[in-house]
Amino acid sequence: MQNIILDSYVAKIHYFCSKSDGSTGFEMINLFRDISIRTKIKNIGVLVMENGSFEYGKSNQTFLKIYNQKKVLNILRNVELSRIELSSVSSLDKKTITNITKELLGKNQLKVIGHSTMGIGRPKEILGLNGDFTYCIGVDLGGSYISGIIMDFAGEVVCSHHVELSNHMEPDTLINISFNLIDNLLKKASMDLEQIEGIGISIPGFIDKATGLLILSENLPEWFNIPLKQIFEERYGLDTYIDDCSRLMAKAELWYGKGKGVKDFLVFDLGLGIGCGIVIDQKIYAGASGKSGEVGHTVVDVNGPLCTCGRYGCIESLASEWALLQQVNEALKNGTETILRQVMGESKESPTVRDIALAAELGDDYSTDLLIHTGKYIGVGISNAIGLFNPSKVIINGRLVHDNELLLNTILDTIKIETMPQIYEDTVIEESDIGLLASAIGAATLCLKKYY
Ligand SMILES: [Zn+2]
Repeated sequence: MQNIILDSYVAKIHYFCSKSDGSTGFEMINLFRDISIRTKIKNIGVLVMENGSFEYGKSNQTFLKIYNQKKVLNILRNVELSRIELSSVSSLDKKTITNITKELLGKNQLKVIGHSTMGIGRPKEILGLNGDFTYCIGVDLGGSYISGIIMDFAGEVVCSHHVELSNHMEPDTLINISFNLIDNLLKKASMDLEQIEGIGISIPGFIDKATGLLILSENLPEWFNIPLKQIFEERYGLDTYIDDCSRLMAKAELWYGKGKGVKDFLVFDLGLGIGCGIVIDQKIYAGASGKSGEVGHTVVDVNGPLCTCGRYGCIESLASEWALLQQVNEALKNGTETILRQVMGESKESPTVRDIALAAELGDDYSTDLLIHTGKYIGVGISNAIGLFNPSKVIINGRLVHDNELLLNTILDTIKIETMPQIYEDTVIEESDIGLLASAIGAATLCLKKYY
């Protein structure tokens, strides 16, 4: 690979690109229309990191060293390897690999996890990430729950905590519950703040990533212009990162789940709202202004019900968790014949999605019809997105489909019916195996970006 340095002026230009080989530099140069900027490139070549921005060093050596260290860590995040295997996978010569792994072992970012006796010669050390190197906190602020984890450097969840919320809460209350949850996690893991790298927060909504300001969250009424980053940094004194829950769910799949090694895929976050994380060429696609993936707010019925976004007939207004519960509560109020009230018990004011799924399993016609109706709308939304992106894989996750076979099967059947057969047959559709902690895991990965 050609080594490339950009001076600080040019390096400020951000460019989303997946390639990190020599050809990328030429592609980028073609993008520069301003000849005065173009002449400022001192050498040819570009290093494009995962966050879509350039990183550059003061010298070629610094630049290349950081790049190669990140390359090795990225490979070992996916698979544990010997130095010879690392050399082959990374296309770096054995001497470079020896030097890099020596430094990373010295920093405690890597550890020897075993020995391989395969092949000739002495047993070879197998290297992997050292989970104990550092820890991150990930918090998923859903509209109806908060989940939190402590995750180690190798991506293992050390401990988790989950709190169900009964109603929409004001920002101050929810933030205080989040503080309690973080304190609880630290206590559970017997850790203190010195051991924590940072805090990542997942929230549904539009976020100014530079300032960590939550601009708005449709699923959290009253949440406008909340300086979330600042609030958490002041409380804990740790770097805090914020991003949208669906994109973070996709990040978790990309790093640790069924998206590992998959070039292009979509992750559907089916919960209180309906979101979509888009991965193109192994990078999260955030959109021109960081608002991609709003599949839930595509209109499927122009005469449909009012949505949280202020328009009518979005998929989310017909088939999200909040829409489902709104329809059920209306039906219960109107005396619709259903066993839901018995299933949910007298103590609850409103059923949960799990109650509806259970009632359907017990043969309740109303709940069965409702889940089929909901599944069809979601299936149409996913099918439309498949038609737009032609992903090689679709991963389905979220509280709506968790332990809800009827809904999941209806979604899968609808996708099959509504997607063009030629596109459908090229698409693998799977349920996530990370499950409900995916957005919290994705949030925790935000704290590790300087290493990868
Ligand atoms: Zn909407």
